[in-house]
Amino acid sequence: MKNLLSAGQLSGAQAVEILDIAEGMADVNDREIKKLPTLRGKTVVNLFFEDSTRTRISFELAEKRLSADVINFTAKGSSVSKGESLKDTAQTLEAMGADAVVIRHSASGAANVLANSGWINGSIINAGDGTHEHPTQALLDAYTMRKRIHGSASMGKTLEGVKVAIVGDILHSRVARSNLLLLNTLGADVHFVAPPTLLPSDSSNFDAKLHYSLDEMLLKEQPDVVMMLRIQTERMNASFFPTEREYARYWGFNAQRLGQLKKSAILMHPGPMNRGLEIDAVSADSAQSTVLEQVANGVSVRMAVLYTLLSGERNANAS
Ligand code: ASP
Repeated sequence: MKNLLSAGQLSGAQAVEILDIAEGMADVNDREIKKLPTLRGKTVVNLFFEDSTRTRISFELAEKRLSADVINFTAKGSSVSKGESLKDTAQTLEAMGADAVVIRHSASGAANVLANSGWINGSIINAGDGTHEHPTQALLDAYTMRKRIHGSASMGKTLEGVKVAIVGDILHSRVARSNLLLLNTLGADVHFVAPPTLLPSDSSNFDAKLHYSLDEMLLKEQPDVVMMLRIQTERMNASFFPTEREYARYWGFNAQRLGQLKKSAILMHPGPMNRGLEIDAVSADSAQSTVLEQVANGVSVRMAVLYTLLSGERNANAS
């Protein structure tokens, strides 16, 4: 595998292998000296055209823990048109000998453009492209679910039969799309819960059950996992719900809904959270919330992805 562009490109075996490698990386992250020499001599560029806290820091830490040389390029606010600036920047990075580029861009398809352009020979990792995909988020979410459900017996496991409810701004969410693809591959039972205005209008081409009432779904389905999505106001060009107060009341996760979850169920959020809108403080900080675990697991999973894409290439060259 050279690039990671979509969660949908992974077979079940490939996805489980990345999650298993991440288990090993998590052990490294628990050690006093959290470092492996795996990517020594490799250059990884973090090319961020859009804001990010968790993802950027997490990739940087993952790269450093694998001993790569890391360049951070934040291109936000560039006045050059997007296509042009991407090409110019890519060619500059190629001239510097980048072995991998981690790209985040507000345009859907930006990572694919870079991978198929021929401007760069190194690996491309999609760290979020517009409303399209965010494959490493899906992998860290799957890792988090597997760990909470199977604990120390997680190795080799899929998410067969796990019932996952993804709630909220599905329409604008690359997290929802990548999660859907990976969860389908891993055998989970996916449910989308949102007001009709925040669901894609054509549901025939995705494999998830649709619900319009959060309370009804929680009661009827008793999900193992509830994943709350951020309301993405920056991607909304119209009004999708009457008021924030109303959204919080019908679609937000709160203490009362937390009480309806089964005790073993987990509550996820990819961050950044709009506290008081899609999730309240009591739920976000509860023992069932995995928000901070997701952040910690993100480092191990991204180490596993970098290892899979970059050390394979080294082994192949050596043989
Ligand atoms: N951090 C995630 C993303 O970049 C989720 C979000 O922003 O709502 O897509």
